[in-house]
Amino acid sequence: MKKTIDRRDFLKLSASAGLAAFVAPACTKGLDTTTPPVSGESTLKVPLTGHGRATDRDITIEPPKEAPRYDIIDSHLHMMDFLEDTDGLRALAKAMDMAGVSKAVIFGMPIAKQWDETMPKAPTYYLSNDSRCYYYSATDYMVAEEILCQDEKVRDRFLPFCCGVNCNDRFAADHIRQILKLYPGFFVGIGEIMSRHDDLTALTYGEAPHVNSDAFKRIYDLGAEEGLPVLVHHNITAQSTENILYLDELQEALAYNRSCKIIWAHIGISRRIEVKNLTKIADSLLANNSNLWVDISWLVYDYYFLDEFPSNYFDGDTLQDWVNLIEKYPDRFMIGTDKVGHWSTYPAEVVKYYKLLDRLSESTCNKICRENILSLVKKY
Ligand SMILES: [Zn+2]
Repeated sequence: MKKTIDRRDFLKLSASAGLAAFVAPACTKGLDTTTPPVSGESTLKVPLTGHGRATDRDITIEPPKEAPRYDIIDSHLHMMDFLEDTDGLRALAKAMDMAGVSKAVIFGMPIAKQWDETMPKAPTYYLSNDSRCYYYSATDYMVAEEILCQDEKVRDRFLPFCCGVNCNDRFAADHIRQILKLYPGFFVGIGEIMSRHDDLTALTYGEAPHVNSDAFKRIYDLGAEEGLPVLVHHNITAQSTENILYLDELQEALAYNRSCKIIWAHIGISRRIEVKNLTKIADSLLANNSNLWVDISWLVYDYYFLDEFPSNYFDGDTLQDWVNLIEKYPDRFMIGTDKVGHWSTYPAEVVKYYKLLDRLSESTCNKICRENILSLVKKY
């Protein structure tokens, strides 16, 4: 006769075996690493050469308005969009060639947009409709598998980061630890981890994340321990207020573990974030936090750096103010496209920086184009 097990016995059994072992050490030191693999090598062989398996698309890429004049490393690029879809790495490599980009830091999208039963049309972006978003861990595996199956020439152009965790979960660092073990010597950084992020925060299931939470702090400890920089998206404030609401959270995060190198994406700017004198805020933060770097990808450059003010909001700084700040901290700024999964307009997102690069000294220009990001990523 088949023996059944009651609920109480099951809990006792699981407490004495694996489940408790999973819960207990993770609170302090992470998962147990001492157990050797049970069945030896996987029978599945990763093809190290050949074509992209999931996604390669033949797309039309718009050429840039001017020929590439700078050798650039894109420090912020999502292989996947919010539907976890991509044009693929071969098309991306072509777009990078057209824009003078030799390498790119690349990661997936840690949050996916759901297509609700009640929505007649599929969303294309997180803002497409009111459907909710959710944390999507498979994104890291897709990035790893796609990169590993490229030929060496394409593979060597990418500096992969991992990001697929729910950053409200104190186990998040343990989950990152697992993927680092699964792909040893592969990931060279952590991120982009989404903390406060305009409507995306409001649409995502669960509580609003914040960069100074215990879950984030465990990620900083892991970054410090493994020598991996941590790229965070953390809005400087909420939409529709000029009061700076969320900077204290970032300052606490920076002070928590000085050995963790934190890259603050977009200097805290997102859609509909309007604050005055961002150069002064950035100046004081960079002066007081030697473990802080910033990337100027996405719309911070268009809205705050260029003297164009597309939404008729004058923030108090000119492009020259930014040039002066970058020359003051030449080791701490990086450029990136923040493209998400699709590359038809990639070259334009790169050459837009020429207006800034043309005004920098040669040495500072080399640093923000290449050297700063190379100094941050882990070398194996
Ligand atoms: Zn991004």
